[in-house]
Amino acid sequence: MSTQPLPLVFDLRALLTWRPPTLRFDPIYEAHFQHVGGPARLAHFANSGALALFVYNLFLLADRVMIPDVLEMAFQLRLCVFTPFALLLLLLGWRFKPFLLLLPVSLVEGTLALTGMAAALSLGWLLSQSTSDFAGMYTAGLVPIIIYGNLVQRFRFRFALAFSLSVVGVALICVWLRFGHGHPYEVFDIPLALLVSLIAAYTLIVNYRFELEERRRFQWSVRAQTLHKKLADSQSQLEALSRLDPLTGVPNRRHFDEYIRQSWDAASSQAGSVALLLIDVDHFKAFNDRYGHPAGDQCLKHVAQVLQQQVPAAAGCVARWGGEEFIVVLPDADVARAMKVAQGLCEAVSGLGLRHEASTTAPSVTISVGVAVTRPAATHDSVDSLVAAADAALYRAKEGGRNRATAALSPVSG
Ligand code: GH3
Ligand code: MG
Ligand code: MG
Repeated sequence: MSTQPLPLVFDLRALLTWRPPTLRFDPIYEAHFQHVGGPARLAHFANSGALALFVYNLFLLADRVMIPDVLEMAFQLRLCVFTPFALLLLLLGWRFKPFLLLLPVSLVEGTLALTGMAAALSLGWLLSQSTSDFAGMYTAGLVPIIIYGNLVQRFRFRFALAFSLSVVGVALICVWLRFGHGHPYEVFDIPLALLVSLIAAYTLIVNYRFELEERRRFQWSVRAQTLHKKLADSQSQLEALSRLDPLTGVPNRRHFDEYIRQSWDAASSQAGSVALLLIDVDHFKAFNDRYGHPAGDQCLKHVAQVLQQQVPAAAGCVARWGGEEFIVVLPDADVARAMKVAQGLCEAVSGLGLRHEASTTAPSVTISVGVAVTRPAATHDSVDSLVAAADAALYRAKEGGRNRATAALSPVSG
């Protein structure tokens, strides 16, 4: 569907090559458009259809004045033929809405346009049968039918076009049938047919604009939805990225803060425990000095990777604490389990076999781990005091010769 604006009048070449925007999307988009708008459109058809049927029968009052000689026929045609048929369609629309939504859109829209045509034809038929002096003027009765189809019911433009042409056809035939019969008001016939034709043309233009606007609004809403989704996706990507340490790819301190807060709250309410493992790479300054900073970065990546393998997400959380230090949270772990995990971490890192010739305690890269465990509900500990206890334990692990795990003396509750 093109959205090219109408060129300015003085731009003659552009004006000659200008084509009105087509009222059609590509097939997939079109199907989406019909699908999204379908239920509301059916509801609109049913409501305005019911109102139109009432008005259509109200015209019996006008029939009585304008074409009294065929009033009985008008009764039969309006009440016994058209009304039951229209009621049946309305009933189908109300009762079998989901089924109608499955039918091809053209079938539903086409049937509605046919109903409008039938209303115009029924009036045309009455006019052709009547010998009343006013029958010619009653051609104006086609105007509300056109307004109903093009503006109230708002048939899709191509159906509105076929419907409008057929109503204008009815008007012209009525004039033609009556022409030359010496009716007293014959002079009004042609202006009235012209009036019907003009109203058909004008309402068609409005009908076209309606549909165009409706389609443009749909396009904008789809674009807005797509943009909204992209924004939400990139927001969640950013959110995920903001929780990761860029060098090692493990969660950062920000993530740790949230994780420990949640674990702490859960342990408080369920009388459970929280274990902290503070990890420091041994003689890392010497590693950097010996092998260079980039090699130090690589070493940190390897260590982070192995820590994460040892503590899967279901068991706890590994985060980079800063520099060459990492921290592990083990929700609901007691001292024995926390120490077991910590020793496993020491073994896994030294098992990596990353050469460290500058170390005075081992031939390869090792870590020291300080372990602290608490039961938040039973103690007055805070996260900070737990970290301090793990730090003190780490200090003792360093003092004790490195490449080892040491449990805190306090606060510890197993
Ligand atoms: P200890 O066994 O007592 O822990 O000794 P250490 O040398 O590991 O401790 P220290 O705190 O003196 O040194 C830490 C070093 O870690 C100093 C710093 O250059 C290095 N470091 C901190 N962050 C990074 C990093 O992101 N990349 C690299 N390559 N080195 C880092
Ligand atoms: Mg350190
Ligand atoms: Mg260190």
